[in-house]
Amino acid sequence: MDQVIDNHAEIREEVGKLCARFPGEYWRKLDEVRGYPTEFVQALTEAGWLAALIPEEYGGSGLPLSAAAAILEEIHRQGCNGAACHAQMYIMGTILKHGNERQKAEYLPKIASGELRLQAFGVTEPTSGTDTTALRTFARKEGDKYIVNGQKIWTSRAEHSDLMLLLARTTPRDQVEKKTDGLSTFIVDMRSVLGKGLTTRPIRTMMNHNSCEVFFDNMEVPAENLVGVEGKGFRYILDGMNAERLLISAECTGDAKWFIEKAVNYTKERVLFGRPIGANQGVQFPIAKAYAQMRAAEAIVQKGLAKFERGENCGEEANMGKMLAAEASWAAAEACLQTHGGFGFAEEYDIERKYRETRLYQVAPISTNLILSYLGQHVLGMPRSY
Ligand SMILES: Cc1cc2nc3c(=O)[nH]c(=O)nc-3n(C[C@H](O)[C@H](O)[C@H](O)COP(=O)(O)OP(=O)(O)OC[C@H]3O[C@@H](n4cnc5c(N)ncnc54)[C@H](O)[C@@H]3O)c2cc1C
Repeated sequence: MDQVIDNHAEIREEVGKLCARFPGEYWRKLDEVRGYPTEFVQALTEAGWLAALIPEEYGGSGLPLSAAAAILEEIHRQGCNGAACHAQMYIMGTILKHGNERQKAEYLPKIASGELRLQAFGVTEPTSGTDTTALRTFARKEGDKYIVNGQKIWTSRAEHSDLMLLLARTTPRDQVEKKTDGLSTFIVDMRSVLGKGLTTRPIRTMMNHNSCEVFFDNMEVPAENLVGVEGKGFRYILDGMNAERLLISAECTGDAKWFIEKAVNYTKERVLFGRPIGANQGVQFPIAKAYAQMRAAEAIVQKGLAKFERGENCGEEANMGKMLAAEASWAAAEACLQTHGGFGFAEEYDIERKYRETRLYQVAPISTNLILSYLGQHVLGMPRSY
């Protein structure tokens, strides 16, 4: 299936070749035991794809966001899953943009080479959920360190990461003028605190996502690991969200392409009542509709990527793209499953696995309602709803 804009064709081809070494069988086995795709992530790291956005001076390839989107889209289009490592691509943007020179020099080259894995992003908490500024994890400054107490939930890949980017309160909410103030961002070296103030507990979910609960009990973080200015962390996290949304959108359009291709092929092969099932409009139309949805989402995402790369505000496109792409991948998943009839439920076709995997994107990293409220308030100028 061609791209609307045929961008980064060489990258797509190379990533496609790498993905071919990790067929459905590989993912199915991991899915069964909820295992981490270590070999896949290793291969992506060695090929330099996870360091795409890290500037060359820090050992990466300094590619634009659209290249990272092409990498992730291709991974999903090939039936693989970038969720095992995608966060590394966008979390490092916080260190790059808001970290000091020492932090950049210390961490970015090691992240680029794979010596350090920055896969864990600790924002969501069980009691506050989407209401991020109500989070309770507190980092209290004591001399040259912070003492962290609290809990995170859904910290994906926490058991497969060396570093975590953590958002915690440093000034109580009732002592700040704006609730978005008083939150700070930290680089936590999980290797040095695991079992010494840091505990992780995996959560078994409907798909293989390696998500965890994370507990902080007087966990010590050196003060030098504070990113940027104390109390401004929420802005740093918000700053990275458009990139995150555009990259996740690319994963969704990649999923949609995988489902559509699989469904189309099957409609030609499966013969019933003396003709291929694809000759029936009842079978064709849901697939054609999902295709149109995917193309529309892709166009918005491309527009968002172009704006991002020009340094323009792409909040509208990043949010709309994420919502439309997640809906398109879900429509494609539904059409693909339905087209395959009973066989769609058999594990060996990979459809049921991808179906479970792609459902997540209407909830995480941001749920559809919150996107709609962003559009309602910030794009359409309606009154604030929360
Ligand atoms: C598999 C998985 C992996 C994840 N990985 C990470 C990670 O690595 N790091 C991390 O920090 N987080 C992660 N998350 C968390 C994810 O970002 C949240 O689940 C998501 O933002 C929704 O928050 P919540 O689950 O707390 O839902 P809630 O905030 O409790 O919301 C529940 C429902 O209510 C709706 N809702 C809430 N408030 C409003 C409102 N004002 N108006 C309308 N509707 C509203 C929501 O849209 C949602 O449908 C992950 C989640 C999952 C499931």
